[in-house]
Amino acid sequence: MTKKTFFFIALVINGALAFSNTVSFQDDNYTGTVTYNETARPGDAVFARMNVKISKTLKKKNAPDTAASLILMKGNRKIDSAQFYFFNQKAKKQPAAEMLASIPVSLWTVPDSHYSLKIIFTAGVTPEKEIILPFKVEARSFNSEVLDLDERNSGIKQNMTAERMAQIEKLNNILETVMPQDIYSLKPFVHPVKSERMTAYFGDKRVYKYTDGQSETSYHYGHDYGVPEKTDVYACADGRVVMSEFRISTGWSIVIEHLPGLYSLYYHLSSPDVQENDFVRQGQKIGLSGSTGLATGPHLHWEVRLNAAAVTPDFFMRDFTFSSSDGQK
Ligand SMILES: [Zn+2]
Repeated sequence: MTKKTFFFIALVINGALAFSNTVSFQDDNYTGTVTYNETARPGDAVFARMNVKISKTLKKKNAPDTAASLILMKGNRKIDSAQFYFFNQKAKKQPAAEMLASIPVSLWTVPDSHYSLKIIFTAGVTPEKEIILPFKVEARSFNSEVLDLDERNSGIKQNMTAERMAQIEKLNNILETVMPQDIYSLKPFVHPVKSERMTAYFGDKRVYKYTDGQSETSYHYGHDYGVPEKTDVYACADGRVVMSEFRISTGWSIVIEHLPGLYSLYYHLSSPDVQENDFVRQGQKIGLSGSTGLATGPHLHWEVRLNAAAVTPDFFMRDFTFSSSDGQK
């Protein structure tokens, strides 16, 4: 297939959303826009929203079946990619298609300016098109902390039983699942408890010291809210409950799916109020906080995963789907 780079009409910085850019493109067959965040830090994500209108001439020739993918590049090397999904299933058969794609920028990404985004776009029989977008990964600093684990918590961390391994595999399988039709929420997330007092943050570098003298270093994958036992916990956005069960390491745990590949996780609850396959609304009470599983005291651990990678919860408290920038829902 021949590839052709779209001609850039304009580069518009949207004043209302400092972190988003809108790029317009057009040729004989299409006109459209891409809105995306041009910068990210390790642990953030990149979201791209694309509106495409197909010309009358092309529409007459066929019923275009639009498809597009988003690719994160470093130089000429492909780092990661994702398919665009449609806001509704009818849209891809219609002349105006509205789609969204997202890629996590992992905690291990090396910040520099040699990154770019590539969109590969096709509509039925027309040749593939490429759109190249500037993209930058900025530096971020991380806190460090040492946690001396007691006998019970050391035991949990070093638990290699088949039961715990099966629990880890089950959760990983859920978090790796990307269902293009599962679009439950396009709104910014809200805090999962009324208090905003946090005792640990996403990206904290942690050294866990075990009672046997061994240690392990890892990143903290979520925010910890220092709330007392039995504090109400709320869904951060509309979604479908895909897990509500007791796990050895994370205690009573709830996982909610919000968008294809996008999940929020709530750990160490004293009790859950929801079951698998329940639909929940943003701000709906889903359980009570606690200290079940590996916990040195009562708190809520709140985590966000995108395509299995742990991502900054704060990123999702902005208009990350660019829903308010184009006057459409
Ligand atoms: Zn935590």
